[in-house]
Amino acid sequence: MFSLDIQQIILRLEQLSQIGRDSNGGTTRLSYSAEYARAMELIGQYFRQAGMTVQIDAIGNIIGTYSGRNEKLPAVWSGSHLDTVPNGGKYDGALGIICAIECINSWHKAGWRPERTVRIIATIEEEGNQFGMCLGTRTIAGILNNSDPQQISNSEGISLAEKMQDISLDSRKIKQAECDPDQIHCFLELHIEQGEELDLAGMPCGIVTDIVGIHRQWLTIDGKPNHAGTTRMDRRKDALVAASHLTLEIYRNALNANGRYVATVGAMRISPGVVNIVPGQVVMPLEIRYIADQDFESAHNFFTATAENISRNYHVEISIEPISHTDPVQLNKELITVLEQAAQHRKIPYKNLPSWAGHDAQIMASIVPTAMIFVPSVQGISHSPLEFSRQQDIFICTELLLETLTRLAGN
Ligand SMILES: [Zn+2]
Repeated sequence: MFSLDIQQIILRLEQLSQIGRDSNGGTTRLSYSAEYARAMELIGQYFRQAGMTVQIDAIGNIIGTYSGRNEKLPAVWSGSHLDTVPNGGKYDGALGIICAIECINSWHKAGWRPERTVRIIATIEEEGNQFGMCLGTRTIAGILNNSDPQQISNSEGISLAEKMQDISLDSRKIKQAECDPDQIHCFLELHIEQGEELDLAGMPCGIVTDIVGIHRQWLTIDGKPNHAGTTRMDRRKDALVAASHLTLEIYRNALNANGRYVATVGAMRISPGVVNIVPGQVVMPLEIRYIADQDFESAHNFFTATAENISRNYHVEISIEPISHTDPVQLNKELITVLEQAAQHRKIPYKNLPSWAGHDAQIMASIVPTAMIFVPSVQGISHSPLEFSRQQDIFICTELLLETLTRLAGN
């Protein structure tokens, strides 16, 4: 009944990726930049061509509205983010916007209107390169913790308020972007997997069950800096050796967890950091990502016990300072069932899997029923110009999105 134009999806992905194209063949489209403003303009055109009205909210999310037959009913929302990481790929974020627009376009071409209004959103600052992850959806959800846009700055010291002004947004009105959850029926995000589970399984489509919880902390290992020649090996308090042992133990335990959680020590700051002094201090961040609370608990217990042992064995002090904690999110079971039924109806093979990356859907899930569709990433490459998803997989996943949006918005 409705026909999707896959060529148009591919063409638009290309058009969008050219805005902010950098010399490495990637795309750099940071929120509130001149490139970002041009991308918003292009998305606005796509919205209008699909019969939608266009609105930019107070934080800079751009929203296309396809009015339903009964405008009093809460609207079905879909979409993803329009910002990229520096030197990012073509598909991350952009795919979820462009595929959702194509679904509406297929209705528009057929002259069909659903019962419920459908809104497609291109969110701002999901990657959080400047002002923190999921800024756009956090504003919608009203969980900005009353942060003052004058006080939040990027790494160049430019405030959010100033950046907003660059694209003619008044940061004093930021609260107006907050949405009443009662007006939103549900949120559905299509996104690339960014991992390689689907690709390895040879599956064209994923239905996401959970979104990962992320725990971050700073570890400081204090030993004693001393002469690297005159300090006997058995009398040293070598912070780097202790930090290395701890890192290896963290790695080994995570490896043995068989995918239930992942742990990363992403950096080490060593002082004094010279060739002829026993390292006196190491500061390093530890990140643990998990789906089930009990896996986090056991990882955390193991880490605490191991840190104590290492502290004793190497005569160092280990202190721990929390950075941030985000709980894992279970996506909406009823919506997952709608997706599964839609997939079965369309004879689309799919795999249920969790997301090990954070998404706007995680924030939206805190206020409204939310679900996600994953498109396979070839070799699991993402946040890279080499990011790639196959045309036939994109088509199949967009078919699932269309079938599901049609069911949710009502015949
Ligand atoms: Zn993304």
